[in-house]
Amino acid sequence: MEDRYGRNIDYMRISITDRCNLRCCYCMPEGLSFAPVEELLSLGEIEAICQAAAKAGIRKLKVTGGEPLVRPGCPSLIGKLKRIPGIEQVTMTTNGIALGQFLPELLEHGLDGVNISLDTLKPQVYRQITGEDKLEAVLENIRQAADAGIPVKINAVLQKGVNDGEWLDLALLAKRLPVDVRYIEMMPLGQGKGLEPISNKSLLRSFQKAFPGFREDRQVHGNGPAAYYRFPGARGSIGFISAIHGRFCKGCNRIRLTSRGKLKPCLCFGEEVDLMGVLRRNPELDECAGQKSMELQALFRRAVLQKPKEHRFGIEKDVTEGRQMVQIGG
Ligand code: SAM
Ligand code: SF4
Repeated sequence: MEDRYGRNIDYMRISITDRCNLRCCYCMPEGLSFAPVEELLSLGEIEAICQAAAKAGIRKLKVTGGEPLVRPGCPSLIGKLKRIPGIEQVTMTTNGIALGQFLPELLEHGLDGVNISLDTLKPQVYRQITGEDKLEAVLENIRQAADAGIPVKINAVLQKGVNDGEWLDLALLAKRLPVDVRYIEMMPLGQGKGLEPISNKSLLRSFQKAFPGFREDRQVHGNGPAAYYRFPGARGSIGFISAIHGRFCKGCNRIRLTSRGKLKPCLCFGEEVDLMGVLRRNPELDECAGQKSMELQALFRRAVLQKPKEHRFGIEKDVTEGRQMVQIGG
């Protein structure tokens, strides 16, 4: 699907739940209330939306949340999404806590790759950021995923005075393991508002100083907006997702589906296109599935045409998305 700026939108991030087993300080405040279960898309509804999405031109799916692995049935959903004609790739973003438990099933269902969020290698800092003592489990699960041979990416959000001093230690994971390590600039959404982002520009300079052989890596690594580099002796690459200080919107290829059945053209703004209304209209009449699919495809095209040219995260008053990241789907 081409948008008004000539970009091809063929990638959808799907939040399959707003629940999570962590409370990361920039994503999910203590005491946040969850949507009533009946207001979340059922797994069948997610599959129906993805079938329509594929017909409209979506080719790659990323399953996210909240924490996708707390949603019962997540692995088999991945298998169902993989079997949709037109869908070429299904990957997942997870905090990694339950990944070891579900990895065999996820692989059996054809998961094509996994992003694992990890901001620190220090147990007390992990607890400070996430509220839980799960660092060892996550590290073990990263090793297991890397051993399984699927592409693994580590996502790290750096915060001034909390974990910014660990940029190099985190990068060295790409030396020990065949994983890419990516730095995501903190976005001013929900709890992330007011937290100072560490600029990837200055981080890049630190890398260039530490590794004279730090070179751009032009190989395609995924569907996202990361710029990749390599340093000598590393097994994986280093990626920079410069949400604030970079101009990555020119290459934006994505749309987001929230766990409540809304399509979000851009993370920065509150505009949404409602799919739930179509899905749940007249269920007792057993309305023709083909008719609903056509309507969903038209809504996809509408959402794509609503995509703005670029985000405005740099100007606080222009950020109209008022929810927490965990509610939107990161
Ligand atoms: N629970 C899963 C996880 O942690 O990977 C998936 C959902 S989480 C919302 C997806 C990603 O969003 C994580 O890598 C997390 O670090 C990132 N994230 C959450 N809030 C953010 C913020 N305010 N700014 C930048 N990244 C954020
Ligand atoms: Fe949960 Fe992921 Fe948000 Fe952390 S970043 S609270 S793991 S959804």
